[in-house]
Amino acid sequence: MLHQVNDHSLGSGGQSRASLREDLQEFLGRETPLHQLDDLTKVNPVTLETVLRCLQARYMADVFYTNAGCTLVALNPFKPVPQLYTLELMREYHAASELQKLKPHIFTVAEQTYRNVKSLIHPVNQSIVVSGESGAGKTWTSRCLMKFYAVVAAAPTSWESPKIAERIEQRILNSNPVMEAFGNACTLRNNNSSRFGKFIQLQLNRAQQMTGAAVQTYLLEKTRVACQASSERNFHIFYQICKGASEDERLQWHLPKGAAFSWLPNPERTLEEDCFEVTREAMLHLGIDSTTQNNIFKVLAGLLHLGNIRFANSEDEAQPCQLMDNAKCSVRTSASLLGLREDMLLETVRIRTIRAGKQQQVFRKPCPQAECDTRRDCLAKVVYERLFDWLVSVINSSICADPDAWTAFIGLLDVYGFESFPNNSLEQLCINYANEKLQQHFVAHYLRAQQEEYALEGLEWSFVSYQDNQTCLDLIEGSPISVCSLLNEECRLNRPSSAAQLQTRIEGALAGSPCLGHNKLSREPSFIVVHYAGPVRYLTAGLVEKNKDPVPPELTELLQLSQDPLLTVLFPTQPKEKTQEEPPGQSRAPALTVVSKFKASLEQLLLVLHSTTPHYIRCIKPNSQGQPQTFLQEEVLSQLEACGLVETIHISAAGFPIRVSHQNFMERYASLRRLRPHTPSGLHNLCAARGHSGQLPCSEETTLQTVLRDLLHALPALTRTAATPA
Ligand code: ADP
Ligand code: MG
Repeated sequence: MLHQVNDHSLGSGGQSRASLREDLQEFLGRETPLHQLDDLTKVNPVTLETVLRCLQARYMADVFYTNAGCTLVALNPFKPVPQLYTLELMREYHAASELQKLKPHIFTVAEQTYRNVKSLIHPVNQSIVVSGESGAGKTWTSRCLMKFYAVVAAAPTSWESPKIAERIEQRILNSNPVMEAFGNACTLRNNNSSRFGKFIQLQLNRAQQMTGAAVQTYLLEKTRVACQASSERNFHIFYQICKGASEDERLQWHLPKGAAFSWLPNPERTLEEDCFEVTREAMLHLGIDSTTQNNIFKVLAGLLHLGNIRFANSEDEAQPCQLMDNAKCSVRTSASLLGLREDMLLETVRIRTIRAGKQQQVFRKPCPQAECDTRRDCLAKVVYERLFDWLVSVINSSICADPDAWTAFIGLLDVYGFESFPNNSLEQLCINYANEKLQQHFVAHYLRAQQEEYALEGLEWSFVSYQDNQTCLDLIEGSPISVCSLLNEECRLNRPSSAAQLQTRIEGALAGSPCLGHNKLSREPSFIVVHYAGPVRYLTAGLVEKNKDPVPPELTELLQLSQDPLLTVLFPTQPKEKTQEEPPGQSRAPALTVVSKFKASLEQLLLVLHSTTPHYIRCIKPNSQGQPQTFLQEEVLSQLEACGLVETIHISAAGFPIRVSHQNFMERYASLRRLRPHTPSGLHNLCAARGHSGQLPCSEETTLQTVLRDLLHALPALTRTAATPA
């Protein structure tokens, strides 16, 4: 709605509309060129189109960072820009007296965050949330932030740790290549895609020196060990050992040159990330000695051989599946590398044990081929998942400072962005649920920041309604009934139900939610969640099973019998394992489902985030081909939507979309000072007083606001009128 501006509202002595228009035009014409605008909230007016044009102009001018209110937008350059990340530049940002006068950069955010820690009484914990879609540059940015702190927050060299590699900052940096080797993989969207979420707390002592760090990971995509989409790859570490092992190691790990593994697709592609030496070196510096490393790589080789075991149904259903081709050899090698007995490995994968009846009699049932495959894959997944978690705990024990050695932390969150594929499943539900939570946290924080800014400016401001995603969160996680609770209920009841039945249950129980969409056109059973970033269709097939994530107890028991030193640590016999398929009749606590575990870790994360002052970096991929100098508006727009920036822009636009400095306003509109001739001080004095002391008498303040508001709201219309040929 346009606010009416008429000559009357400008007062008797006001400018005529025509001359005001000319004046405004001139003002607009003198606007800073788009690529020089450092803050998206300064574009005139704040609309999606102007915001996109501004980002594009900057990108084409090789300017990759732009502020958007309290957020930093980081465009992926898709080319090396070493001059942007030099030590000198880090020091320059660190030493700057007026940080905001420097160009927007991740170092501005890093330094501001670092300065915020210091307060008069207690240090204040900070966090930097780095988000964006896969390949947008989150991990790159997080790594760069860590390097920044390793430089500016380094403890002075002490005689105890003169070697750079032994220094804590270096050890913290070394955690990156290790976690990336085991947790990253080449996907269609990013050659070095992180397949887990990560929150790292950089611990600072009173002198603001980094004394340690603690890493928390989320939702490792363990299915990748046994199943990779075409054109994608397994985790980097598998390629590293196959390509980088020495002759001796090849013999030990049974990895002859050129050996083919079905879980190792696309090995011919050589990536920068395939460097085994870097991983080993980093592991060594983290205190993982070569014997332990050898044990780890041996187990990984065992998994590769496990993946080559192929089954075929026997003609007689009562007989276990047969082994195909060379599978016998693979079973032997795999068993030997995993420290297992060959016959036990085969039996466990091929035969299901069922306990039934009051006496808990044990029945053994040969599994059909598909189930044998599932059990084989499950074995690999459970080993890899435990190995990854163990590695994270080893890294933590190497880099975590003693509790009395730090007083505050800066948390860096590198979390998977919002995902929407043609077909989505439990993984996307969890990821989008996390993003929904983070968005809520962001909006609450952003609104608070805006409110504070307006209050500081003395502006009257009542909040327009913005999209509150609580309704969507209620749909996903709320109680008593939500998508999560229904999925958990299905797991608890353990009843056979089809994908269509699950769809009906979800749609029936949650019909009242405005965020539940209906997809009548879809042939596959599914339901739609209308997320803040857009609607996403989740297929119901396999959801319950994925949520249960069952590990047959026989598999865990088998691994507990392993003679391998590493597997003995990963699968200890005591305390007794909690398994998912409990024998009936035994009253154990129900095993946690994937969503309940995820929900718990998410809540924990948000609790930590809420206790910090947050900062946001939104990484944007200017195109999906990874091309430098290519800015695709459509693609950027959908990311701005997905990361909530559009929402932020709308909030800015709904507030005061155009900001003019008091000085600038005075220069341009001094003639309006006769606005209220009866005001003794006059507008000129008002503005001068305000610029000087920042305070104004209340009634006069209102006048100023009104004029400003009228002018600002009229601006688009005036511009339009001026542009129309007479
Ligand atoms: P994400 O973690 O968001 O999936 P990455 O951080 O792995 O994405 O970035 C993907 C790729 O983009 C990197 O491997 C790197 O080649 C490139 N990249 C990202 N940020 C930058 C940057 N600031 N400068 C140069 N290249 C970058
Ligand atoms: Mg990443």
